[in-house]
Amino acid sequence: KKIRVGIVFGGRSGEHEVSLASAQAVMNNLDPEKYEVVPLGITKSGQWLLGTEPAKLIASGQSVDSQAEDANQTVTSVTFTGDPTVGHLIPIEGQQGLGDDGKIDVIFPVLHGTYGEDGTLQGLLEMANVPYVGCGVLGAAVGMDKEKMKMIFESAHLPNVKYLVFRRNQWERSPEDILDQIEEQLGYPNFVKPVNLGSSVGINKAHDREELAHAMRVAAEYDRKIIIEQNINCREFECAVLGNDEPLASVIGEVIASNEFYDYNAKYIDNKSQVIIPADIPQQTSEEMRRYAVEAFLALDLSGLSRVDFFIDKDSGKVYINEVNTLPGFTEISMYPKLWAASGVPYTELLDRLIELALERYQDRQ
Ligand code: ADP
Ligand code: MG
Ligand code: MG
Repeated sequence: KKIRVGIVFGGRSGEHEVSLASAQAVMNNLDPEKYEVVPLGITKSGQWLLGTEPAKLIASGQSVDSQAEDANQTVTSVTFTGDPTVGHLIPIEGQQGLGDDGKIDVIFPVLHGTYGEDGTLQGLLEMANVPYVGCGVLGAAVGMDKEKMKMIFESAHLPNVKYLVFRRNQWERSPEDILDQIEEQLGYPNFVKPVNLGSSVGINKAHDREELAHAMRVAAEYDRKIIIEQNINCREFECAVLGNDEPLASVIGEVIASNEFYDYNAKYIDNKSQVIIPADIPQQTSEEMRRYAVEAFLALDLSGLSRVDFFIDKDSGKVYINEVNTLPGFTEISMYPKLWAASGVPYTELLDRLIELALERYQDRQ
């Protein structure tokens, strides 16, 4: 019997469109001999749709919302069975295409950013007792919060970039004081980021006080916490990690951003950023990053998959850990699958492995 895989995509996040592309690639590459795919699209406003294929959405250049009109595809509620041994998620309306019992064996959340990569969906799936691919609630949540992530990196003795964090209310109350503090402690240029986001959304590099004030206002629009980091004049590297309690690290890849930094445009729009796999760095440096990647994965209690990103300071040669991404971009040309392909695990096998890991983790938690 085929394993029925629910692919959850779209979602209430700034990375909605990125998710559609990743989900499409996952669906195209799941072995049809082994899996039956059930697409579950979430609109930008949070409505769940069953059977909406991301291909159609991408082709039409529309967000999932515009398809919500199609009433017979709308899941107005999702029911969870109470069976403690076999968790199943059953969309009770709009079941066409689901066949016999409408049950889903494992969920593959292909959602980037808030409400999907941040532990919220994972919590729902835990409550529903459904196996799912990727990190659990804690790992997903700390992986999304750049402040908590760095606090854990620090306690695991991983090399962090110097940073400061302010709450939106602090910023609004005394902006001049905060600008002074940042100037004194971090200098220019610096990087201003919403704490809980990804895909470089809301991130700005500030070169002077005026740009810094602007960057703070932008970040404060996205999040109630703002993180400011010292700029590293850097080359950027990424490592793919796969596993649960015995994670493996891939070869290292280098990203050469087409812009001043790897912003949203350089990541997804202009197609000019380059990826070099394996990275042209001394073996010792790549071993160091691979070790940090596994240490970070364990320190944050991640599971399934994560991409761990690094900087190398061009001036000092020092390696810094930048962040983890617990649901990294997953198109065929995304770094995560490419790093595994270069390490001997092609895309289709990678998906098999992720689903196995999801089922293993589910068993371990029983
Ligand atoms: P996201 O989670 O949105 O990808 P990142 O923290 O990775 O956020 O930042 C996005 C990009 O901004 C990085 O890939 C890098 O190009 C640049 N960047 C971020 N922080 C720094 C820093 N401290 N020094 C230099 N470049 C940085
Ligand atoms: Mg990120
Ligand atoms: Mg990043």
